[in-house]
Amino acid sequence: MFDKVLIANRGEIALRIQRACKELGISTVAVHSTADADAMHVRLADESVCIGPPPASESYLNIPRLMAACEITGADAVHPGYGFLSENARFAEILEEHNITFIGPTSEHIRIMGDKIAAKETAKKLGIPVVPGSDGAIRSEAEAQKVARAMGFPVLVKAAAGGGGRGMKVAQRPEDLATALSTARTEAKSAFGDDSVYIEKYLTKPRHIEIQVFGDGQGNAIHLGERDCSLQRRHQKVWEEAPSPALNAEARRNIGETVANAMRKLKYRGAGTVEFLYEDGEFYFIEMNTRLQVEHPVTEAITGIDLVLEQLRVASGAQLTHKQSDVVFSGHAIECRINAENARTFRPSPGRITYWHPPGGLGVRVDSGVYQGYTIPPYYDSLIGKLIVHGKNRNECLMRLKRALSEFVIDGIETTIPLFNELIRQPDIANGLYDIHWLEKFLGKP
Ligand code: ADP
Repeated sequence: MFDKVLIANRGEIALRIQRACKELGISTVAVHSTADADAMHVRLADESVCIGPPPASESYLNIPRLMAACEITGADAVHPGYGFLSENARFAEILEEHNITFIGPTSEHIRIMGDKIAAKETAKKLGIPVVPGSDGAIRSEAEAQKVARAMGFPVLVKAAAGGGGRGMKVAQRPEDLATALSTARTEAKSAFGDDSVYIEKYLTKPRHIEIQVFGDGQGNAIHLGERDCSLQRRHQKVWEEAPSPALNAEARRNIGETVANAMRKLKYRGAGTVEFLYEDGEFYFIEMNTRLQVEHPVTEAITGIDLVLEQLRVASGAQLTHKQSDVVFSGHAIECRINAENARTFRPSPGRITYWHPPGGLGVRVDSGVYQGYTIPPYYDSLIGKLIVHGKNRNECLMRLKRALSEFVIDGIETTIPLFNELIRQPDIANGLYDIHWLEKFLGKP
């Protein structure tokens, strides 16, 4: 096992990783920008290094500064968390070259899955069902028209380098396609520096269902069931739950086994998430995330498996602790993402938290990186915490969530808690009847 892990992240996920390290007796190194000198992840780490000014490009995304922090502190491994450099193949490679372990998959697997076109081709070869679409990148509008007409409108133009819902445009009719192509290309170029795009059939009422997988890089891999992340705004997840209200045990086992088999063939190492759209009983692969996800705690709640601890074990060369037959799903879990944002306009609301009272009690977990008196800086994303609730079934989970939300008090800033208070009272939510468009329709209502 490692002696010292540097956590190349901030906020709740940096704390989450520190907790697993502590339980394993590993020392932790926090890195931070000057804007984060007072942050909780810095206070709780064994050591900390300031790596630069507030902009992420000069701190959390700056590879030379992170390498210097590793050198100064003598860290023998780096956990990237999610976002920032977690899916940067070059960072993983540089660490490998310096004999520092990157806690994640090989740089080759990150690279393949980071290009959505290559990822789709790989998934297809491994026997995973994919969304119908163009064979690779689209070169001209004429080609796009041909592909789109063959599969039928609406279609979705997507950036090969996409992420965070950017570079994605719907064309309802043939006459929309030229604009969709050029706006997706422009957005992709400015967000990712790569304007390659491809086309997919636009599914009109799917659910977003993703499978959590775990491999040891030696050909063993298991799945830990699914998470339903259909409640989204602008292609960003807002609420996640497991199991999905839309799947039965057989469907879960089938898709789980298909994905676990693919990961065995790939000799995948570490935690990964294979994302699907699910419509009319069929699964369609959209992408794979080669890292820990924000919503991993719902899987932890229903399996009792500590995903970060497993990441650390596997990265240090150990085999998987669990066989597929050891994985037992118990009860139901829901996660609400608490953002420092107005609950209706979603305008960010950084500032000082004057009062902070998180809920507690049986089945309630709050993962956050803030505290009373803390000032949320305006430079980073607005996630300040996650409320995760577990119950013996979906009904109990919903009741508990309602109770936990009513206890949660955060003053001084605006948060998304009022949105969850509304959602929990909607019959469609209570009945689990929602697709990826449900939330935007709901928010569009006066
Ligand atoms: P990103 O990497 O930007 O998050 P994804 O490919 O994971 O992009 O897609 C994000 C979300 O966009 C999905 O969860 C879904 O809501 C929507 N989406 C993606 N592909 C399609 C599609 N073919 N049809 C309908 N919606 C889609």
